[in-house]
Amino acid sequence: MKKIITCIGIRPDIIRLSQIIKKLDNNFENLIVDSGQHYDYNLNKIFYDQLGVRLPDYNLNIKSGTHASQVARLMIEFEKVLMKELPEFVIVLGDNNSSLGFALATAKMNIPLVHIESGMRSKNWFMPEEKNRKIIDHLADMNICYLPEHKNNLLREGLNPRRSWVVGNPIIEVVQSVKLSFSQEKPFYLVTCHRAENIELKQNLEIILQFLGKLYSHYNTEIKFILMPKTKIMMEKYELKFPEGINPIPPQGFIEFLGMEKEADLVLTDSGTVVEECAILGTPCLTIRESTERVDLIELGVNTLTGLDVDQMLESATLALSRDIEPVLHYGKNIADKICNILIGNSLNFHKKADR
Ligand code: UDP
Repeated sequence: MKKIITCIGIRPDIIRLSQIIKKLDNNFENLIVDSGQHYDYNLNKIFYDQLGVRLPDYNLNIKSGTHASQVARLMIEFEKVLMKELPEFVIVLGDNNSSLGFALATAKMNIPLVHIESGMRSKNWFMPEEKNRKIIDHLADMNICYLPEHKNNLLREGLNPRRSWVVGNPIIEVVQSVKLSFSQEKPFYLVTCHRAENIELKQNLEIILQFLGKLYSHYNTEIKFILMPKTKIMMEKYELKFPEGINPIPPQGFIEFLGMEKEADLVLTDSGTVVEECAILGTPCLTIRESTERVDLIELGVNTLTGLDVDQMLESATLALSRDIEPVLHYGKNIADKICNILIGNSLNFHKKADR
């Protein structure tokens, strides 16, 4: 069997790759490398446990830090693994700093690189994720896209169409694999908010908290706010407090959180994965951001991009609460199988494809 490496950067990577890893394990000698960028139990190991993913073969213990120090440390540590293991190819997913470090180290050693979740673009160059995903796509030898429009983004950037595949979105198989367990009699709204663009600028974080306060005073409905460590740090730094009615709770396990998403009357989030899950579950959802790479969900009318304007956010919430959402159907099926087949069918040609 061919030796390959599957890289895990952060929480959503474990979630999205959970079904794919099981298929890869049947067809390859598959080593899992976890960056260690997320290291608390409830941001890392709980997802391996709940989704039945075996523990990683390597943990690089990168932890947190500035962009440069995270990427640099990851490259140094991952290069050691690559030199020792010499895999036939490396798989990375997504757009986080670890994914960038994994991709750079791999490409620098001329080891073929596969990028899953390729071609998403928010067209917002200030976002760290936009820079990461663009660089990784251009380093990759194989770009695995979720939707045709993502492949079109790559073609617009001049990438070779024969290096890109459209397979559907693996999150749908993950959601379908989980037995939900959460119930609450009283209505509630659910919030996740920890993207750099929303929490690092005091003004933006203030707008979001002000909006949530007004949302509570309008509807008198409990707002559960998943408080990530970095949001907590920024709130302390800026001396911001939660308004009345906002109930901060620690990060949840996937089974619990998915159950909350299903039960919530409204989800408000800056997470790309959460908006996809709500679209699958049929839960009304707002994207609290100025731009999004999940354009498909906005165009389908199942999600609304609120921008950071309190009145517009309130209006979006009122509209979202007033209508029923049909679960989306365009994410496809058998995605993990398709990815595996594409890798098996094309990996022989990897080394012949140095042309760009
Ligand atoms: N999630 C979770 N527990 C939580 C909050 C989120 O399991 O308390 C899951 C959520 O269902 C989704 C993923 O974590 O699958 C989203 O992670 P995050 O927002 O960190 O990443 P992004 O989607 O922005 O890449």
